[in-house]
Amino acid sequence: MSDRRRKNEETDEADFAELMELEEELSYEDGYLHKKRSARQAELRKKRKRNQLIREIILIALFVIATIVIIIVVRKCTGDDKKPSPSESQESTPKNTTEFVTDATEDTTKASRETEFTVPTRLPDVTTEPVPQTEPTDPPATEPPTEGPTEAQGMIYNGVQLPPYRPLQQGASVAVQSGITMPSWVVQDLIPVDGAHRPGLVINPIKHVVIHYVGNTLSSAKDNRDYFATPPDSPVYDGRQVSSHFIIGLYGEIIQCVPLNEVAYAQGVSASSGRPNHNWDAISIENSHYNDAGEFTSMTEDSLVKLTGWLLQSYGLPANTDTILRHYDCSGKACPKDWADNPARYEAFVQRVADYMAAHPNIAAEYP
Ligand SMILES: [Zn+2]
Repeated sequence: MSDRRRKNEETDEADFAELMELEEELSYEDGYLHKKRSARQAELRKKRKRNQLIREIILIALFVIATIVIIIVVRKCTGDDKKPSPSESQESTPKNTTEFVTDATEDTTKASRETEFTVPTRLPDVTTEPVPQTEPTDPPATEPPTEGPTEAQGMIYNGVQLPPYRPLQQGASVAVQSGITMPSWVVQDLIPVDGAHRPGLVINPIKHVVIHYVGNTLSSAKDNRDYFATPPDSPVYDGRQVSSHFIIGLYGEIIQCVPLNEVAYAQGVSASSGRPNHNWDAISIENSHYNDAGEFTSMTEDSLVKLTGWLLQSYGLPANTDTILRHYDCSGKACPKDWADNPARYEAFVQRVADYMAAHPNIAAEYP
């Protein structure tokens, strides 16, 4: 090999080496650029996604706000429609009951000259027994008349303005009373066992029903029931021991104050009088009256006929002047005054009860 040829070969090799070097450099730069481009592309894609997300969130938020605003506007509009005007709401407000009570007690202050006992115009709330407050009970045995004055005004009876009728509240009920089930037309509102008005003594077998008048013109059944419930330690307690199994009001409403199996202090007499003490063998019924002559309203008397008939049937007793007594027959006291003054009215009443019992042989089943 000649020198020239060797030199040429060396040059070729050098050229080839440079070429390889350049190619390597180029591919390196290529890779770098490629990497840079990919990174930039990823960055842009990320940015685009983020912006899209932000736009979506803003859209959703706007939608929610718009919905809330619409709901508020719609509600406000419909709410305004339902709200009555002040004048309307005044008209629809029911008469308040305290006004009612005040009216009634004011009307009952007229005391009769010959009172069996006096009913204080205002008594403290008395409840020594738990008395659950329930809804107003059924209407009285004889419904207050539908025509004429409303119950808020009270009706005019034989020219006498009666106090308003107040719906009664059922007190604690008594499950067992000598095996007799109380009908729904009697409101049980028992007075507490206090040793004074209600001694809590077990009564003997029943032989009579004794009729009374309350002796306090125009006082209601509830007024008298509350009077019986006056606690002996109350400053308004008058020291008297008085009670009754039942009281019938001016509108014929009936309240039971003492259970049937207990003694009520209604027509007792002292042992020295020589008369039998019928507190021990009689059920007592007090009655409201609308004038000082002690006359009962027809509503009171209708309820009295029904209650007396029901009691006599419950005890298996007939209706006559021995089973139905006036307080007057027990002690000589002018009670009920109208019947003491007019015995014929008492006899007519006894006959009415007998007729009623004949016409209604099972009052308990007919009027449960
Ligand atoms: Zn009496």
